[in-house]
Amino acid sequence: MTQQVLVLPGDGIGPEITAEALKVLEALKISDGLDIEMSEDLVGGAAYDVHGVPLADETMEKAKAADAVLLGAVGGYKWESLDISVRPEKGLLRLRSEMQLFANLRPAFLFPQLANASTLKPEVVAGLDILIVRELTGGIYFGQPRGIRTLENGERQGFNTYVYSESEIKRIAHVAFQAAMKRNKKLTSVDKANVLEVTELWREIVNQIAPEYPEVEVKHMYVDNAAMQLVLNPKQFDVMVTGNMFGDILSDEASMLTGSIGMLASASLDSNNKGMYEPSHGSAPDIAGKNLANPLATILSAAMMLRYSLNREDLAVKIEAAVGKVLDQGLRTGDIFSEGMTKVSCSEMGDAVVAAL
Ligand code: NAD
Repeated sequence: MTQQVLVLPGDGIGPEITAEALKVLEALKISDGLDIEMSEDLVGGAAYDVHGVPLADETMEKAKAADAVLLGAVGGYKWESLDISVRPEKGLLRLRSEMQLFANLRPAFLFPQLANASTLKPEVVAGLDILIVRELTGGIYFGQPRGIRTLENGERQGFNTYVYSESEIKRIAHVAFQAAMKRNKKLTSVDKANVLEVTELWREIVNQIAPEYPEVEVKHMYVDNAAMQLVLNPKQFDVMVTGNMFGDILSDEASMLTGSIGMLASASLDSNNKGMYEPSHGSAPDIAGKNLANPLATILSAAMMLRYSLNREDLAVKIEAAVGKVLDQGLRTGDIFSEGMTKVSCSEMGDAVVAAL
């Protein structure tokens, strides 16, 4: 049966990078019988300009009905002064929350050809291959009550609530254990159990589930130590699992070990492996519209989409191999460029991946 993919290019470099991922998918439809139908819609500032909201209800319905969503990026200077309720990022949060995408998978994988692009020494990062599993629909970003209130003495006070229920912890822990089973069978659960009761429960639940995966070696690490270990000795990690806020921060840190945020894909999945796929970076307004962006993170996100939602592992591997091939050829966009390499534009990089397929 033909699978439906909703493409939401978004703002800034979003339309440029998704166009390159679409080229790759179109090529696979012809060469490998990839049976998908793609339709496009608006999200973020682009949707606000037309509908007055960063995600129209109709688009939300299309996203829920699709087998997978491929998204570019949202945001930009133009929409920064809007009320927070209609800012571009709210479109993303609505998609994640209404599609119940509770599991965010972010691989921090270093292509060996790019070992010199990291700010860390090549021997520290060469061979790096970490998967960060971040809980995406709970924790302090969603907890109630929240707000800014005025105290009796007239002083204002901001407050948020860090909350996780057992079921939320269990389902994300299962995703992480299952991911570890498919990799090197090492799982590090990151918390702050020495200070926060909510993560004391997190640790307890992870330990409760561990016997169901006897082959996986489980470790617990406080988040401050995890942040330090990621730059000290990142290769000790295989799969890391953590809550929404810690995962947000640690996955950005891990991404920079690989040289450029322009290389990093992500998947956000629901309990049936239906998901939304997007590069880890933002809309890069500083280079938007100039054909300078690196499209590889989006192309690799399309590969993750084939792997997790569309059941075409073979084609995911094929795309990843093609990306390796163009890097072997010395082709580099500006963000990963180094002496002796050939600088290419966003669209030239997309064309090169298609040719390498
Ligand atoms: P950013 O990721 O957009 O850019 C950070 C830096 O990385 C910039 O110098 C940019 O040019 C560079 N960069 C990012 N992606 C690149 C690519 N593919 N190729 C080459 N260079 C790339 O982060 P920011 O500047 O903090 O945010 C810009 C806008 O994006 C803001 O409006 C922000 O809210 C939004 N944002 C959106 C998402 C998302 O859509 N998921 C995520 C983060 C930020």
